[in-house]
Amino acid sequence: MTDEELKQFKESLSITAVAQALGIDVVRGKFRCFFPQRHVHGDRTPSVSISEERGMFRCWVCDDVRGDVISLVQQYNGCGFMEALNWLKDTYPFLVPGAKRGKASGEKAAPAPRTVEPHSSVNDEYVAEESVKKPKELIPEDERKKVVLSFLKMLSPVDGTPAAAYLVRRRIFKPIWDRMLLRTITDYDGLNRKLKETYSMEVLQYVGLFNDKGNLRYYKHPLIFPYLDSQMRASHFQARALERSTEPKELHLRGTVPFPYNVSALNQKMGWIYLCEGVIDTLTMLQQNIDAVGIPGVRSFKTEWVSLFKNKNVVLCLDHDEAGRKGMEYLQEIFGNAGIRTIILGDGLESLPLNMKDGQDVNEWFGGKK
Ligand SMILES: [Zn+2]
Repeated sequence: MTDEELKQFKESLSITAVAQALGIDVVRGKFRCFFPQRHVHGDRTPSVSISEERGMFRCWVCDDVRGDVISLVQQYNGCGFMEALNWLKDTYPFLVPGAKRGKASGEKAAPAPRTVEPHSSVNDEYVAEESVKKPKELIPEDERKKVVLSFLKMLSPVDGTPAAAYLVRRRIFKPIWDRMLLRTITDYDGLNRKLKETYSMEVLQYVGLFNDKGNLRYYKHPLIFPYLDSQMRASHFQARALERSTEPKELHLRGTVPFPYNVSALNQKMGWIYLCEGVIDTLTMLQQNIDAVGIPGVRSFKTEWVSLFKNKNVVLCLDHDEAGRKGMEYLQEIFGNAGIRTIILGDGLESLPLNMKDGQDVNEWFGGKK
């Protein structure tokens, strides 16, 4: 696991869920100190606070009881950094970056390579976490967003292109293309050239539009799904391959996914929201007039997104395979901790012939063809 993957893994973990998995009794974001003898009344009123947002915990009396999610496992299980990391990988195999889908159950975490330096468990202050080495900024974040936006403006609507045929096969039609501002690359060479004329290669690569060889990515991924914010602007997108043989099927822009796809559906009003895996499943729901948002996978779900789901009941629509089911259980726990009600799509309907079959996704269930 590289440093970047470790960071991703830690970000995808809910520290509250981990504490509970360890057997710690968490009540309203607090639990009792591991050293009750140091506290008056044996810490009857819990002194350890959890910051779900930062993924940290801290005892307000003991200086040595604090740290991140890995320190928590280390301190509770009395083990070293590597052992703690392996425990987390065994417990949440579906969150491990680069883990193979569908093999999640019983898959043993590989022995961790030496690229990860053991962190001291007590040196992490709450604030320290935020100042942790960010990749150096070549251009300010605002500029980066502008480059992405101008790239998206150079693209064509999907109408009459192979991307349209692809969407129609999946029973996603024009009103949804227009509403979600779907775009496609029709003239790869021309676009490649135009971008090189407009920006320096350094910037294009920094933003993540260009590969190491100095060419526009997305040669095989011409269908572009902008991640629109509530003002219908996009600083992130996902690119989709049209040919079945292309792997990976989806490419993300460099950096982290800023918010779920179709985030404007999370409008803080009372109601139901369907949480889907991937953009195609989300569009499938929208086509059926169902309010839905999408995440690329459980691994990319950030615990700080939970607050976006305020006032919603969440229907979890992840793939019905082993990894998807484990992921849904995990999300149920995270949402549950925040007092948000969840149900799993199709739960309780197992005996109906309509129910999603093993391995099916939402799009196939609605009749979409691969
Ligand atoms: Zn304490």
